[in-house]
Amino acid sequence: MSLVISGRIVPLARNAEKSTFQGKVWIGDDGHIERVTRGNAAGPRSGFDKAARVDAGHDLVLPGFIDLHSHLAYATLPLWTEPDRTTPFLHHDSWPSASTYAADITWPAYAFIEAAPEALLAYAEVRALIGGTTSIQGSPPKNRPLDGWMVRNVEDETFGGDIASTRVLASTLTLKPDVLATRASQMKAGAGFIYHCAEGQLNSIVAGEYQSARKCGCLQKGFVAIHTNALDPGDYAAWTDPGTIVWSPFSNLWLYGSTTDVPAALARKIRVCVGSDWGPSGTRNVLGEIKVAALVSKRQGWKLTPFDLVRMITCNPGDALAGPWNVQAGRLEPDALGDVVILSARAAADPFAAVLAATEKDVRLVVIGGRALYGDAKPMKAAKAAFPSNLTIAGTKRVLSMTQLDDPSAPSSFAQVLARLKQVRDDPKKALDAAANASAEARMAGAAPRLRLALDMPLGKVPIGGLPKNLGEIVVPPIQPLEHDVAFFASIAGRGFHGGLLDGLGKFYA
Ligand SMILES: [Zn+2]
Repeated sequence: MSLVISGRIVPLARNAEKSTFQGKVWIGDDGHIERVTRGNAAGPRSGFDKAARVDAGHDLVLPGFIDLHSHLAYATLPLWTEPDRTTPFLHHDSWPSASTYAADITWPAYAFIEAAPEALLAYAEVRALIGGTTSIQGSPPKNRPLDGWMVRNVEDETFGGDIASTRVLASTLTLKPDVLATRASQMKAGAGFIYHCAEGQLNSIVAGEYQSARKCGCLQKGFVAIHTNALDPGDYAAWTDPGTIVWSPFSNLWLYGSTTDVPAALARKIRVCVGSDWGPSGTRNVLGEIKVAALVSKRQGWKLTPFDLVRMITCNPGDALAGPWNVQAGRLEPDALGDVVILSARAAADPFAAVLAATEKDVRLVVIGGRALYGDAKPMKAAKAAFPSNLTIAGTKRVLSMTQLDDPSAPSSFAQVLARLKQVRDDPKKALDAAANASAEARMAGAAPRLRLALDMPLGKVPIGGLPKNLGEIVVPPIQPLEHDVAFFASIAGRGFHGGLLDGLGKFYA
């Protein structure tokens, strides 16, 4: 079904990125944008007679946000710190050995991925959606391909094709030179490679990951380096065919007390994107993360404008994905993906400043491939959203369109997802035993294997710190609300290594 959205269009179109105008976005029934028109100009000649129509008035109509760095498997978890620790961690291999890491992070995450993988993924996707995210990176490794995504999962998105055609490769693990060399040739053939690289304090040992990537020929256009906060300005000079970095200032400051040298990367024409990272040290969505980016920019005198920051969650990641995906994301222009977010804004508001100020309360409608998946009841109805179910976000009633992961004809709801996760939390051992039995039964019956996910942080498939001998020792912390809430801000003060800077995040939500 085709969809026409009218409102104050913020297209971030390639030829006029700053221009905004009252107009319409025309999304064809193939889920791609056919045209973007100004005022009452005529739309495409055919294909829109029966289109659904959403009128956003003065509200902003933007490309859906892209979160280019996340870890979906940890989305339910609260912020984590190691009690009594007084100095920032040195790099990404420092905190997994902290004494509380396994029990606070690995075990509860393991309980969910093993016992309720479908519900866990659904939770993470709805958490992204309510912040206007339409594509997210960090889907956990899995034993079989999945198709029923709501939000586009960057590594797994096939646009209805074959998983084998996927050209986005990713690794959270430090790779050996032979694998990096293979990635280098895959990138030469058009793939994208998203790599956790040099995550830690400036010039710590993990800077060697970048040098190794350089020696193996990975510093190419298709290279997406996550974090790079251990690099100094000189390091970026080696990247002569600049690609992309993903900046997660909340997580960096929380763990390491310092963050990526963004101006140095920009000076080398490296594309900078923003990612939310993960539950234990991140924001809940990129609409929150750009506020942290703004706080850092202000403190450091970097002078990043709201326009610069909005680009980091729209056209910058969209351009990084356009090569490997073979389709433009993050811009509203002909042939691009029909992924759109509507944010409420005053008629006179500067559009980019309004996006920076917006919170979950302001997300009015989220459309992916022309299908309305989340929003206020009125635009959801106007967009003819399928299988509507209710949920409450930031005190406001909202509507979600969700189906079961493996069956696009079977409706689901966030209440069902939460009920399943709570069941696991109430008795992790019982849920894990039941899952193990179900796996064994499926195997014996020769049935299709149960969905299984792997934890992707930080050193491999075997859970860090191992599991307790008695699964009954696993304690799962409360499942966190989807949005940035008062309790989240309260849990920031006096924890982590940000020197108080992250305390400022709550002001955006007051
Ligand atoms: Zn990460």
